[in-house]
Amino acid sequence: MLSLSQRRIPLKPLSVIKIASIRGNYNNNDIVFKSNNNINNTFGRNVNTVAKFSLLCTRKININKINTIRKFSSTKLNLKTIETATKDLDEDEIESMNDIRAVDTVDVCIVGGGPAGLATAIRLKQIDNEKGDGELRVILLEKGASMGSHILSGAVLDPIALNELFPDCLKDSKNIPLPDDIVTLVKEDHMKFLFENGMAVDLPEPPQMKNAGKNYIASLSEVVKWMSERAEELGVEIYPNTAVSELIFDSKGGVRGIATRDSGLQRDGSISEDFERGMEFHARMTVLAEGCHGSLSKQVINKYDLRNGVNPQTYGLGIKEVWEVDPANWKEGYVSHSLGYPLSDGVYGGGWMYHFGDGLVSIGLVIGLDYKNPWISPYQEFQRMKLHPFYKDVLKGGKCISYGARALNEGGWQSVPQLHFPGGVLVGASAGFMNVPKIKGSHCAIKSGSLAAECMFDKVVSLKEKQEAEMMKQNEEKQEDSAKEEEEEEEEEEENEEEDDEESGLPLPEWEAIDLAEYQDAYKKSWIHDELYEVRNVRPSFDSKLGILGGMAMSGIVTHITKGKEPFTLEFEHTDSSVVGDASQYKKIEYPKPDGEITFDLMTSVSRTGTFHREGERCHLRVPDMDLDKHKEISWPKFKGVEQRFCPAGVYEYVKKDENSSEDDVEFKINSQNCIHCKTCDIKVPSQDINWTVPEGGDGPKYQMT
Ligand SMILES: Cc1cc2nc3c(=O)[nH]c(=O)nc-3n(C[C@H](O)[C@H](O)[C@H](O)COP(=O)(O)OP(=O)(O)OC[C@H]3O[C@@H](n4cnc5c(N)ncnc54)[C@H](O)[C@@H]3O)c2cc1C
Ligand code: SF4
Repeated sequence: MLSLSQRRIPLKPLSVIKIASIRGNYNNNDIVFKSNNNINNTFGRNVNTVAKFSLLCTRKININKINTIRKFSSTKLNLKTIETATKDLDEDEIESMNDIRAVDTVDVCIVGGGPAGLATAIRLKQIDNEKGDGELRVILLEKGASMGSHILSGAVLDPIALNELFPDCLKDSKNIPLPDDIVTLVKEDHMKFLFENGMAVDLPEPPQMKNAGKNYIASLSEVVKWMSERAEELGVEIYPNTAVSELIFDSKGGVRGIATRDSGLQRDGSISEDFERGMEFHARMTVLAEGCHGSLSKQVINKYDLRNGVNPQTYGLGIKEVWEVDPANWKEGYVSHSLGYPLSDGVYGGGWMYHFGDGLVSIGLVIGLDYKNPWISPYQEFQRMKLHPFYKDVLKGGKCISYGARALNEGGWQSVPQLHFPGGVLVGASAGFMNVPKIKGSHCAIKSGSLAAECMFDKVVSLKEKQEAEMMKQNEEKQEDSAKEEEEEEEEEEENEEEDDEESGLPLPEWEAIDLAEYQDAYKKSWIHDELYEVRNVRPSFDSKLGILGGMAMSGIVTHITKGKEPFTLEFEHTDSSVVGDASQYKKIEYPKPDGEITFDLMTSVSRTGTFHREGERCHLRVPDMDLDKHKEISWPKFKGVEQRFCPAGVYEYVKKDENSSEDDVEFKINSQNCIHCKTCDIKVPSQDINWTVPEGGDGPKYQMT
């Protein structure tokens, strides 16, 4: 696996220069690095030639070229975005912060290494290797420290999209192209309604939600690792540890690429000695595959008004544990879903339990984030759920080995935004693809990535060819000019060569951004569309005045009888943040204390995520001007600390100023180092003034078997 890091190279006259080093190998003034995306080689000249550099070719670059790199970079850090904009910085610090980013140009840049991003990359390179010249440069950037380390899912997989993506891998004996050791065929499945008194009653399972004999239980993070290996084999460049923080726009407002996160900013906004500017990747097509509620996806949806004419997206929060259970309690391939306890009426959601692998159980609760009562703690509801005998009987005597949480889309068909914008597309959960009643989205994620790849390939290639032809022509003209000059004056020869070198590094001339409307059409003709359309009325029916029983009745009709042919579509009218009620209107909920065997305190659970953010790192959870008092003044009086209850990682705290303080004399704190990147705060905070931004690459959870 390649790792992209940025290096500070102490050369005169520049005090700080960042060079992207891939499989980095550099030694001070003799700058040598092993690279396939040597920054200076991807601009100008023949891009084809550039792509021919092998992964491990060692190239030398000279200072002139480094200067060139600086010259064509375009984006400066906006000091106003840093909380200490007014703080006195010394000259070196200011220079470092304003340092121009290194730029690399690629054919397709994919943000996010989940099933959707990887499927896009794999399908692109499959087509490129089959019908292209195999030189298409596809890069995939992933913020997790390793592939799969930020992936959390159930997961029961519908293999349909994987089978379409890897038709050659299918083995007769099983219907999924994944190795046996990472999948478990579902053998039986159940739907239960749980009562507070400990009863569990069987519910009829809608036919399209049956898993036995056809679907597979897996850890999606393991599946993603496997997919990333296949992608690399096909020639995709994969860079984990790389957080993408910005979109780069061209002069007409189209997306021209992305920039990775600066690193080394301190919590107070000052810069540490390890400060390094991010890097820009300019791409003929940018694919946002960030998963549910991606931070860049949110920006493009707003900028290009991609939600125009569709419903707001609504969300759920899934909280999960993986257990090693007593072998006597384990049943290979057993799947169950539950409704009812512990959730009160008016709260949508349900539990799951999947027996997979070698004695492992995946257990979790999804809770609709449109709940109104601000005293609800999804984390505590999950702990309570495990105490129901239906779950407790399986877990007792076992050991919890993993914990995590992640938001998921619940809006379905009516909330799918426009999928394309100038210069890029949304795929997977970034686009909202999730079949809620099935609790499955990974098959849609993979399919949408494949569709996007198929639609963009020809367009990207023809744009690339056009640009190469133009550049070739320009180069020839320049060479002719140089030749004439050489004849006239031999002494200038060297200078001209240097100039050539510099000019060959010029950025590609601005191009007309590709707007891939074909992808939208392909989605509408695909089974993703049909599947989501069929169940479009299930989730919103739970929002009716009839509550959970009304929802269950409607779901029964839709899934057994009408199957999507209803002559109406129920709408989502509210965002999840707008429905949070006044705390004074609800009774405070007292949750049971953890027993340390089945239920755990929050910090014990967080310790099982392996989450890490650099000590003293700039807070990635942004409130305006980082004025925490102001947030408290807006939020506390009405919602009484809803943030500290909805966050499944204990990031937000309201603490009394001192022992004698009144209940309302509290301070708001953000323990951003605990964050597990679930995105719930950005979605649910009623004041909508918490903005989840991407922290430094490699930060966040280190999930195992999730
Ligand atoms: C609790 C839960 C249970 C689920 N159960 C099932 C199930 O049983 N079956 C099923 O099929 N589906 C299930 N799903 C849905 C399934 O997990 C998703 O549909 C699927 O993961 C979406 O894939 P994706 O690639 O679009 O996004 P993700 O899997 O979320 O991957 C996105 C990736 O992008 C990275 N990323 C995000 N932003 C950036 C950035 N700015 N820079 C760099 N990297 C970035 C993330 O770190 C992550 O690795 C479940 C989801 C949840 C949350
Ligand atoms: S801070 Fe936000 S994104 Fe991070 S764990 Fe808490 S709710 Fe999730």
